[in-house]
Amino acid sequence: MPAQTSSIQSFFQPEVPSSHKSHRRPSSKTDTNDGFTSSEVEAASHPSLHRWQPRTTYNEVDIGSLVPGPGCVALMGRVANFYDQVLNSKSPQAAKGCLKIIVKDDTGAFAVKLWYAKVDYKLRLGHLVSIWAPHISNAESSSLILQDASLVTSIFPERDNSCYFMVQENSDEGVLCKTPLGYRDGKQLDGLITLKNYIDGGYEVPGAKVLICVKSIGGRKTFSTKKGVQTEKVDVNISDDTADATLTLWSRTAASASYWKPSYTILLMTNPSFKGDRRPTLSLNQATQVDVDPCMDDAYWLRGYAQRLTKRDHVNEPFPDGVFDIEGISEAEVKVLFTLAAIDEFARAAPPAANSPAEQFTGYLSLTILELNIYTLYQRSQLFSTECCGVPLYANTTATKCKQCEADIALRINPRLVGLLLDESGALNPGKLIWSPTAWTQLLGRSAEDLAKAAENVVLIKYLENRLLFLRVAVLFGWSSEVGRLCVLGVTII
Ligand SMILES: [Zn+2]
Repeated sequence: MPAQTSSIQSFFQPEVPSSHKSHRRPSSKTDTNDGFTSSEVEAASHPSLHRWQPRTTYNEVDIGSLVPGPGCVALMGRVANFYDQVLNSKSPQAAKGCLKIIVKDDTGAFAVKLWYAKVDYKLRLGHLVSIWAPHISNAESSSLILQDASLVTSIFPERDNSCYFMVQENSDEGVLCKTPLGYRDGKQLDGLITLKNYIDGGYEVPGAKVLICVKSIGGRKTFSTKKGVQTEKVDVNISDDTADATLTLWSRTAASASYWKPSYTILLMTNPSFKGDRRPTLSLNQATQVDVDPCMDDAYWLRGYAQRLTKRDHVNEPFPDGVFDIEGISEAEVKVLFTLAAIDEFARAAPPAANSPAEQFTGYLSLTILELNIYTLYQRSQLFSTECCGVPLYANTTATKCKQCEADIALRINPRLVGLLLDESGALNPGKLIWSPTAWTQLLGRSAEDLAKAAENVVLIKYLENRLLFLRVAVLFGWSSEVGRLCVLGVTII
């Protein structure tokens, strides 16, 4: 067994033949046995990364005003692209690798070569970062062919006290450095084309930009490359109002997708790679820049568009909390009975939610249950449903794991449980109502948890369906332009 290294040895690297050096490398896991804690050892061996204080004055500058040459500058920007170049140096003092990062603010972009030995910089696309650097150079044209990013700084904060790199994880309010380069308020961004135009040949145009919304996020897959290096990838379904495609993120950029929200996160991609043999697939190359949730009118429009689509398509929209005063309504003295035809008329006449206060009305409906799907859904394991990562989830239990993000997800009763509902003026399409948990309990005579328990007994499920079929029910409903769908607040079986 190799000798356990002590902190003193690790601090003063002994001069040994290079073939033995690997045994002497300090390991963070080993107990040092000399009275120093591992964090003290860490602080001693990497003084530059602990409570770093600038020792001189750094000029705070915008990226657009950087000039090549010596001079201490401090700047902020967002990670627009990065990749990791792992080095196989045996020397313990040498860098283990270099992160090549494209950082951009509202004025320009430049490249940062961030060398590292022990520090694991957990970067993702869109991260707000601060950089202190003593020198800026012109990029070597061979290694960094980057549009709008012809300057580079090379820093190694673990070894050089005059530079520093910090991810602004907690102080990021999502506002700074989010304007796309060249964007002027209200004007179309140069080179911006639709996803359809991009797929149909626009990818050949240098500087082409596409603005897309994240639709759903696949699971992260880990695998080994031909060289035996562990890497990972993630497929993200993306779309705009003209086409759908896949965005594949490889290796370290794959982690970025975990922070994106389906039907919400917008990406502005400049110069992505394109492959169209099967499904159109975009990926990042060295010349790609990604703006995550950029501040621009087209991005707001696309997010609104995506949100409207999901609202319409959501398999089980949650009951809107705080929109209806259920107690006040059910205790009101005047109870208005509506017909389905009347509700339809009211809903169409109500103004859109955009700039006027939300319109809402409530009342009662007298409906007959013409169809129930309790047994069918039970057989398909779909008694409960919801969505996560943009993907519908079904089960006969009230909780399940999302296969994409592996989070534990609570499920709600599937609104398709109740099929056709009818009154003398019309019928309601199945699955389009949003039921409150109370209304479900009143209809089924049991809570969602008890329905899940009943699902262990097929006789109970069949009984429930037979008991409710063709019943007449008084439904306390609410409609609000904010929600845009009919909500069931309460049910009384007549
Ligand atoms: Zn998920």
